[in-house]
Amino acid sequence: MKSARFIGSKKVAIEDVPAPTPGKGEVLLEVDYCGLCGSERPQYEEGYHQHQGHELVGTVIANGPGANARIGAKAAVYLTRFCGKCEMCQQGLTTLCTTITSKENIGWAWPGGFAEQVVAPEENLMYLEPGVDAKMGVLLLDTLGTPFHGLRAVNAAEAKAAFVAGCGAVGLGVICVLKSLGIPKVYASDRPGFRLNEAEKFGAIPIDITKEDPVAVLDAIGGVDVAVEAAGIPPTLQTCIRVVKGNGRVLALGEQPETFELTVDLTSRLKDLSIHRTWYFPLSEWKENVKLASSGFFKQTDRLVTHVFPLEKMQEAADVFYSGQAVKVLVTPKAD
Ligand SMILES: [Zn+2]
Ligand SMILES: [Zn+2]
Repeated sequence: MKSARFIGSKKVAIEDVPAPTPGKGEVLLEVDYCGLCGSERPQYEEGYHQHQGHELVGTVIANGPGANARIGAKAAVYLTRFCGKCEMCQQGLTTLCTTITSKENIGWAWPGGFAEQVVAPEENLMYLEPGVDAKMGVLLLDTLGTPFHGLRAVNAAEAKAAFVAGCGAVGLGVICVLKSLGIPKVYASDRPGFRLNEAEKFGAIPIDITKEDPVAVLDAIGGVDVAVEAAGIPPTLQTCIRVVKGNGRVLALGEQPETFELTVDLTSRLKDLSIHRTWYFPLSEWKENVKLASSGFFKQTDRLVTHVFPLEKMQEAADVFYSGQAVKVLVTPKAD
């Protein structure tokens, strides 16, 4: 089958690889769509030993021994492997599984969705609902599922004003969820350009950081209830801590460097606040999210998929995505 692999120096190779065979408890899917992710940028630059892709929806075409998935059904694939038995898994908190490490993620340790077919453990399938197409299924993973989990953790639904630092795919996903929740005032900061314009189109109040200081803008309105760090750099986390009101909640969603320093000024120290870190989303939230999607809860999601390329044009897809002139870029091995 055809697959697309990052081979280093921002080059993509379309390769012929053996089609995977589902093992015990595993399922074979034909890939419908797979999204590129910011987390794959290092591999885009440096290469990877196999094809990746972890934001995917596929159609079930075969069951391995002992698996009983619905043939012909469309399902999104859950990123992380989990044991299903430990204390965390029993509560549905699969990202916190204490038995299986994140090294076994699909699209990383396992071959992923930048291919015609993919194998996944049956328990990693998340079925779509009527009215939720395959593209929307992809969005319900990292783009909306990850932000929504974090926003639930900081009780964002009750915020009157929120701030989102960074308008990449994750930041825009956060803004989409906040506006879908009906939060009246959502401020969003970034450099000027495509992504900040997109934030504004979603109904956010843009703060161009080359012209305005988010701290000054948000001090003028008395601070925000919830501030979301979605850029993955320490200075924006610092800003988030600074701009929340007393009893405010900071959500650290961006992937920060492994070690970093924060400068916390007196204004930040003289108030109660909480900082929440969340990563991906527990499998238990899928059913609620897909039902919400089916009911039309998520607003303007068509804005989130800016490009779809055939798998053969994965090079173009990656170049566009990592240029920053796109929100979510999908590839498909089928005719779109
Ligand atoms: Zn991702
Ligand atoms: Zn577990």
